[in-house]
Formats: sequence, C-alpha cells, structure tokens
Amino acid sequence: MPQSPSQTTSKNTGNVALVGAGPGDAELITLKGARLLQTAEVVVYDNLVSQGILDLISPDAERIFVGKMAGNHTMPQDDLCQLLVDKALEGKSVVRLKGGDPFVFGRGGEEMDVLLAAGVPVDIVPGVTAALGAAASFGFPLTHRDHAQSCVFVTGHLKDHTVDLNWPALAQTNQTIVIYMGITGLETISTELQAAGLPGDTPAALIYRATWPNQKIFPSTLATLPETARTNKVKPPALIVIGSVVRLMQELA
Ligand code: SAH
Repeated sequence: MPQSPSQTTSKNTGNVALVGAGPGDAELITLKGARLLQTAEVVVYDNLVSQGILDLISPDAERIFVGKMAGNHTMPQDDLCQLLVDKALEGKSVVRLKGGDPFVFGRGGEEMDVLLAAGVPVDIVPGVTAALGAAASFGFPLTHRDHAQSCVFVTGHLKDHTVDLNWPALAQTNQTIVIYMGITGLETISTELQAAGLPGDTPAALIYRATWPNQKIFPSTLATLPETARTNKVKPPALIVIGSVVRLMQELA
C-alpha cells in the first residue's frame, strides 16, 4: 500500500525505503534490508544502528548521520523529513535506516506520510524490534504459555516528556510488558504500576543494548527497578521488561 506514488511524481523521482536495521547484531537485518543498503545511493541513519550494519552500505553511497551529535542535538523531525523528500526528488534511491523496526516507536509513520504527500514512492522493510532481540539474546520467551497470554510494547516517553499510560490496563498478571524509552520515567512507571495493583515483587529486568557485544541484563523486581537502574548506572538504549517470563531467562551459549 505505501508504495503507490501520487500523480504528481515525475519520471525522475527516486524513492525512499524505510528499513529496519534490527536491534544491533548485523546478522539480524533482513535479506531485503541488506540488499537495499548495498544498492542505495543515499543512506540516512541515526544512533541505534551498529557498525556491522553500516559496513553493508555501498562505499559509493552518500551517508548522512541524523542522530544525536555533540551537545545531544538531534536533527528536527521536520528537517529530516524534508531531507528525505529532497534526496528522493533529486532522483536518488534513498534508504532511511532505523534501529529495530521502522514502525515500532520509530517515527516511520510520520516519515511515510510526509514522503507520500510529496509524491515520493515509499517501501517499508520491517526489522527485528528491540523487544524480540532482547528476548532471544537472554533466552526468555515473551509469551511462554505458563506465564503470559499477552505481551504489550509500551513507550515510556511521551511527546510532552511525561509518562501517562493506562496503568490499570497494564497492571495485569499473565502479561509481559516491554517498555521502550522508559529509563528516565522509571520511578513513575514503578510507582504507578504498583498503585494500579501489580505486585512489587513481580519479576522485572533492565536490558541494555540487546544483541550488541556489550549487551547487559540487570534482573530486578517491579519495586526495585529504579534502584537497579541507579546502582548499575543503566543508560539508554535500554528496555524495561516486567512479568514472570523474566524468570525463565537462560544462559545461552
Ligand atoms: N524502532 C526501534 C525502537 C526505537 S525507540 C525498535 O523497533 O527497536 C528507541 C528505544 O528502543 C531505546 O530507547 C530503547 O528503549 C529501545 N532499544 C532499541 N534498541 C535496543 C537494544 N538493542 N537494546 C535495548 N533497548 C533497545
């Protein structure tokens, strides 16, 4: 569906593929994603993309980094969308490379809308989202049938920098909660989930850079998550996983 260009597209318009890079390990990108990286004329990428993935890009391609630069400054989303439109209208084949999956907390939807409105053909290539990478790396099935009948992916970082989630809906036993971008809101998340009835001793974990060589897991409980983060100085990118499946964690070879 996203592929249809509008009638305003000229013959010389290029295209943009929003490609999921996966969680870090370069072998976890799709074959399609890897092929597009090898043929793209322009690749626009940010922080969560590992060197192994960047090494797949053709040496002739123009590489544009739009992640956090010195002083933590990121390119504003409007400028980024405009950059993608401009490159495509120059006739280039562009890959917008994003960590994990482009449609899971990745702003891929916003970029797709702007591109289609500008008449640029868009292709979406899914990627392994961080939650799946983390579960695989640390050997805990997100929906083990004895533990969880549902699994929810939640953002801990809302547009206005607050955390305002539907706490009663989340505070269910037999459910695995995976929170993206939740490290700064950890205190609120722990307090609100307990207030909504989820026991403080519910198993939980913080997972830093899943599938990267320096990946780490910090086992915890719902109540002690903020302390675990403080003691271990856990920084983004990290996931919070809450639910008894965390106990199934295995040491994999
Ligand atoms: N589109 C991405 C998510 C982007 S939001 C995806 O599908 O995975 C960015 C957040 O994702 C980070 O703050 C962190 O919470 C999480 N994240 C991304 N990669 C991660 C990794 N390798 N390990 C742990 N968390 C990760």
